[in-house]
Amino acid sequence: MIHGRLNPVTSKRIVTGFRAAAGGLAVLLVASCAATPPAEADAPSPAAPSVTSSPATPPTPTEATPTESTPTPSESAPPAAGDLAGRVIVIDPGHNRNSNGKFIRHKVPAGNGKSKPCNSTGTATNADYAEHAYNWAQANALAEVLRSRGATVQLTRDNDSGNGPCVNTRATLANTVHADLLISIHADGSFAKRARGFHVILSTVMAGGTRTEHASRLLADQIRSALTTQTGMPRSTYIGKGTALSPRSDIATLNFAKVPAVMMEMGNMRNVKDAAMLTSSAWRTKAAQALADAISAYLG
Ligand SMILES: [Zn+2]
Repeated sequence: MIHGRLNPVTSKRIVTGFRAAAGGLAVLLVASCAATPPAEADAPSPAAPSVTSSPATPPTPTEATPTESTPTPSESAPPAAGDLAGRVIVIDPGHNRNSNGKFIRHKVPAGNGKSKPCNSTGTATNADYAEHAYNWAQANALAEVLRSRGATVQLTRDNDSGNGPCVNTRATLANTVHADLLISIHADGSFAKRARGFHVILSTVMAGGTRTEHASRLLADQIRSALTTQTGMPRSTYIGKGTALSPRSDIATLNFAKVPAVMMEMGNMRNVKDAAMLTSSAWRTKAAQALADAISAYLG
């Protein structure tokens, strides 16, 4: 869930954001904070060894290539292991535990000429399964699948217990390593009745310019298709008017990206049906597979 910003697409989301805050489960205060450390202080170093991954996995085409009488893989066959060899993918698990409210409320540039809070605590299910924990689990599940296909995967944070990084530095790692793409993982928190489903947020003011925005849209199309056909999570019923796409100018994580980048709202944590999926490790594995298939298709 993203907080404290305007939505050019619909005003409903803003209302739901405030409802979340009213429930005491989200922070969207915008008070400035004078004596806070610089936003970048919490960002992981791009050179940090702990976040690197796995070129060590050799391609094993026999695992995924049928060896029976029909040697030609069907179009719907899963991509062969190793098909992402040489690719660099950055995953941003949205938020963090963010226990230091003063720090996460300090203002940072939003990448659209405005400023916004460093971060927020995110949303939660009605049973208090926190969004940051879901994002962390889903991001790592996705990383595992991508690494099994040969990709080098890096995460924008290397734990789920601290603060930040701030939203204005979430794209820094992807830009620095010239990633093939950046995917930010979130889940939404709308209290609107019958609001459920996933949507993909796209920036209309990316640092990478219109070519990067166009490439991001192609990635979003692949993700939308894969999630719909493979996970059972429907397109959003409350964002994007059935398209499951949400173009916006206020998402700093995407605005600063110079590489193709999308932000996922994987479902609505406040919806009982969505929450049952998001809290299931089996579903998260399925979703990771779908996201990885979309990334393979996009980069293929
Ligand atoms: Zn979020």
